[in-house]
Amino acid sequence: MIPYSRQHLFSEDIKKVIKVLKSNFLTQGPQVEKFEKKIAKSCNSKYVVALNSATSGLHLTCLALGLKKNDYLWTVPITFIASANCGLYCGSKIDLVDIDNKTFNIDVYKLEKKLIHAKKYNKLPKILVPVHFGGNPCDLEKISYLSKKYKFKIVEDASHAFGSKYKNSLIGDCKYSDATVFSFHPVKPITSGEGGAVTCKDPELYKKIKILREHGIVKNKRQFKKKKNVQPWYYEQQQLGFNYRISDINAALGASQIDHINNFLKKRDQISKVYKKKIFNNYVEFQKYEKNSYSTNHLFIIKVNKNIHKALFNNLRKKKIYVQLHYIPIYRQPYYKKIFNFKLKNFKNSEDYYSRAISIPIYFSLTHKKQLKIIELINSFLEKKK
Ligand SMILES: *Cc1c(COP(=O)(O)O)cnc(C)c1O
Repeated sequence: MIPYSRQHLFSEDIKKVIKVLKSNFLTQGPQVEKFEKKIAKSCNSKYVVALNSATSGLHLTCLALGLKKNDYLWTVPITFIASANCGLYCGSKIDLVDIDNKTFNIDVYKLEKKLIHAKKYNKLPKILVPVHFGGNPCDLEKISYLSKKYKFKIVEDASHAFGSKYKNSLIGDCKYSDATVFSFHPVKPITSGEGGAVTCKDPELYKKIKILREHGIVKNKRQFKKKKNVQPWYYEQQQLGFNYRISDINAALGASQIDHINNFLKKRDQISKVYKKKIFNNYVEFQKYEKNSYSTNHLFIIKVNKNIHKALFNNLRKKKIYVQLHYIPIYRQPYYKKIFNFKLKNFKNSEDYYSRAISIPIYFSLTHKKQLKIIELINSFLEKKK
């Protein structure tokens, strides 16, 4: 079976994990800070909090930015549900902005139109979560301009985009946003087993997220509310936090994987180029990169004619190519349908995407031979359906 994506671990990665397993600390040791420093260095970010998942990172960032009941969080429908669930965790309302037909990222023109409308009805979002889809960076310059005009915060969902670049900035440096969230789940550009990270440039936001990660407990004497008779065993819970820590085992794996990032990116880039060259592209549309940007190529998506979508998907699965569909639009999920009254007519591009997209395999250890086999299967199917 060929999956759509999978991790690749080098023997150094495994050695470093074993070293932690033999050390004194499996969690709350020195590896987490090491991992955070390495993330900061590789994406030029000021502050980094590593956590047990991107979902946790999105949740805490929304909380720390003050998202509350009756606020709005906006994101796109074509994303993993965690991009929206973080808003629900904070009790806020969710609204969705359609994607662009070519880049599969948020449609910034529709975003602007929706903001103008929302302003009239006093329903502007507090937070926007743009998703760098498949690692393709969104039009951050335009989004940042709109955020200043309409006063909302930007939390980049960069779960696919560790290693992506936008203009003269690295995704994670938060040049155009308030915070960036990465995922290190095994299918993502690098992995820590399970894991995620938030990067930001505001020290106050950083502190808030870090305290929320660990039960809301403060251990630094200078931050205590209690000033007198502070005993050596003393610690203080100042708010309701969570246990969203990443273990030292996971952090060591993640840190080690960062050493291979250029290797990973180069290989994905090659695979993507071969697909684009060899798939009969008269019948297929590929994701268009945003201007002046570099994508991790986390996903490779083909958009085919509606009439053959299901048959091609099933045909590839039957041939043991485990293709996927990223993703079912959020407004189609029963849970969201129950709460919100989304109108399909507002999501023409997302609907078009959903009826035509297939994610085909792309990952570091995919051999050229296997890739050619996948291409041949797709092309012969397309040829027959002509
Ligand atoms: C994977 C993913 C997440 C969640 O990441 P976890 O680390 O598994 O919590 C969130 N958003 C997007 C777009 C993702 O692909």
